[in-house]
Amino acid sequence: MADTLVLRALRGNARNLDLGSKKLKRVPKAVGRLRELKRLQLRNNLLTELPEELQALHNLTDLNLGNNSLEALPEVLKHLNQLKKLHLFGNKLDKLSPSVFEGLGNLVFLNLNDNKLTTLPDEINRLMELKYLYVNTNQLESIPSKLCLLQQLCELHLANNKLKSLPHDIGYLTNLKKLSVPRNQIQELPEELCILRKLEVLDVAGNQLNIFPTRLLELKLEEFYFEQNPLLEKNLISSTQQNEVLTLQEITARYIIDELTSNSFNSVFKYYPEVRKILENASKCAVCQKSFLNTWLECVKFVEPTQKIRMTGHVVPVRALLCSYKCFNKPGHQYYGIAMP
Ligand SMILES: [Zn+2]
Repeated sequence: MADTLVLRALRGNARNLDLGSKKLKRVPKAVGRLRELKRLQLRNNLLTELPEELQALHNLTDLNLGNNSLEALPEVLKHLNQLKKLHLFGNKLDKLSPSVFEGLGNLVFLNLNDNKLTTLPDEINRLMELKYLYVNTNQLESIPSKLCLLQQLCELHLANNKLKSLPHDIGYLTNLKKLSVPRNQIQELPEELCILRKLEVLDVAGNQLNIFPTRLLELKLEEFYFEQNPLLEKNLISSTQQNEVLTLQEITARYIIDELTSNSFNSVFKYYPEVRKILENASKCAVCQKSFLNTWLECVKFVEPTQKIRMTGHVVPVRALLCSYKCFNKPGHQYYGIAMP
């Protein structure tokens, strides 16, 4: 049955071949002779490997291997240099062999949903043209920072994994429009997320988040999903407080940073790169706008979501850092202290 289809395709010098849902255990080797083939449909079969002969398909742009029984990436894929779209959902992949990525520099779309991946290899950064990456419903515990080198990436889908955090390098994904990480175990979102100027959709529902990064509101989100997180609630209680005692290092650092403008900063510390590195970690107080280095009060501001954001009617707790109790006790601001349970 499949052989008949291949023969017919050979005679017609076909560009498309549909061998989907044929209970195939192996792909007929003759498929390798379809040199003009652009699209090959192999989903819903019983494949555990691909024949070497497929490496001759130099015009193939679209390959669907979804719902098969692959346990490893077939090595032959690395020869399919024109491949733009690759479906591998619903297989049994538990790791991805890095060598395959060498030849897939033109890939734009990769679907790895419903596999058993616990990690992604660093070599994923070789997929320089990748725009859409789907790794939903796997066992990922982390994602490599190298993933953040994929400059073209527009959509990253990582729902239903075991992620505890996202890499700080996520700020390098400057073209990211959609970040979907619901149903993981993420405890904190990196502050760097807030510099993604093109981000339109953020889905972090069903994680372990208490609070959002300081600059969350700088994002121009059109959709924001964050239900089912243990978010801080606005339950006011009174508390006693002691004035903080600052270290000499902290006092000095605050003084120096506030005295220097950012220009003079570089020239003064040109010969002291270590000092510069330390001082670059300073943050600004949300109330007085002055700098601090290692000592601060972590506070929370409850923000009403803007109308543009479709959501659940909950106020959003956003982190705010204050330099001192003096600022905390000033009237007129909207920052609340956080009571530890
Ligand atoms: Zn202050």
